Amino acid sequence: MPQEVLTQAAADMLDWPDAYGKRCGMGVMEMSHRGKEFLSIYTQAEADLRELLAVPANYRILFMQGGGLAENAIVPMNLSALKKDATGRGAADFVVTGSWSEKSFVEAEKFCQTRLAASGKADGFISIPDAASWQLNTDASYLHLCTNETINGVEFHSLPDLKALGSRAELVIDFSSHIASRPVDWSRVGLGFGGAQKNLGPAGLTLVVVREDLLGHALDICPSAFNYQTVAKNESMYNTPPTYAIYMAGLTFQWLKRQGGIAAMEAANATKAELLYRTIDASSLYFNKVHKDCRSRMNVPFFLRDESHNEAFLSGAKEAGLLQLKGHKSVGGMRASIYNAMPLAGVQALCAYLQEFERTHG
Ligand SMILES: *Cc1c(COP(=O)(O)O)cnc(C)c1O
Repeated sequence: MPQEVLTQAAADMLDWPDAYGKRCGMGVMEMSHRGKEFLSIYTQAEADLRELLAVPANYRILFMQGGGLAENAIVPMNLSALKKDATGRGAADFVVTGSWSEKSFVEAEKFCQTRLAASGKADGFISIPDAASWQLNTDASYLHLCTNETINGVEFHSLPDLKALGSRAELVIDFSSHIASRPVDWSRVGLGFGGAQKNLGPAGLTLVVVREDLLGHALDICPSAFNYQTVAKNESMYNTPPTYAIYMAGLTFQWLKRQGGIAAMEAANATKAELLYRTIDASSLYFNKVHKDCRSRMNVPFFLRDESHNEAFLSGAKEAGLLQLKGHKSVGGMRASIYNAMPLAGVQALCAYLQEFERTHG
């Protein structure tokens, strides 16, 4: 979270001021979600996000709950019946590039026919299979990608043009861990979803951006609260939305605008990531396995060549104020998550520590 956002939320926690600075006598958590105070927060947050991400007018922005993992079920329940395959069951294609897309692939099986169009598993998820090699099915309703694999550190630096690849499927992207770190080419996307907790705000809010004509195709079994059409018709207030998380994300959107918007964030993220990868690549103690053309700018996994130094590395880092560097248990090693809110100075401090640790342990 950006420090400025946390400071502002703390100052306004007990008594929220409106855009003119007038206090209303209650905190955001105490407001009715249908009252004019919260509606103004909601409307501003939606408008700011639409502006930041240049979301076209024919796409709806939905503020939901359940996180990225719930969307793994909610997406097939809403979109798999866009087309029917020969068996009468909807179908979807999946490109599996890491742990998160693999989870999506497995979950969707409960709701539709799933096909593996391509997988990077054989080489341990360190590259993205070339789009020209993807096995695309003509009857697929959608194709799922995770555009930033948080655990494996693999990122799509451009989105595939499915039409040019001969597919008529809609592109669905899980952008949980790099939303707002770079622009989105909406001309290639039918639906994007992401939990807010990596780059936008606290946990509890899930963002869905969906093209209007994809609404209204949900399976009968789809719970009403998870039916995109129902959520859209009710302006994300079919049930009570996660009001405080929306408020915090709204403060983050305003912070992003003050930073110069998404293009400025992208440039800052590229600088931060380049510095860290350069430091890792130049060292003889650390290494990163991911192919250079798909290295994540947000999540940088790396290993120590001599893993017996792992404990010393982590405890030294902690002493230096560098926290949460332990890699995901499924991958091991280390991982630096350098989301939007991580300043360049934080990455510089990490690089200085990497070099100092190498000098004493290399
Ligand atoms: C964190 C994450 C998720 C899971 O989000 P939850 O909110 O825990 O359900 C899904 N996809 C990606 C890419 C993630 O990084």
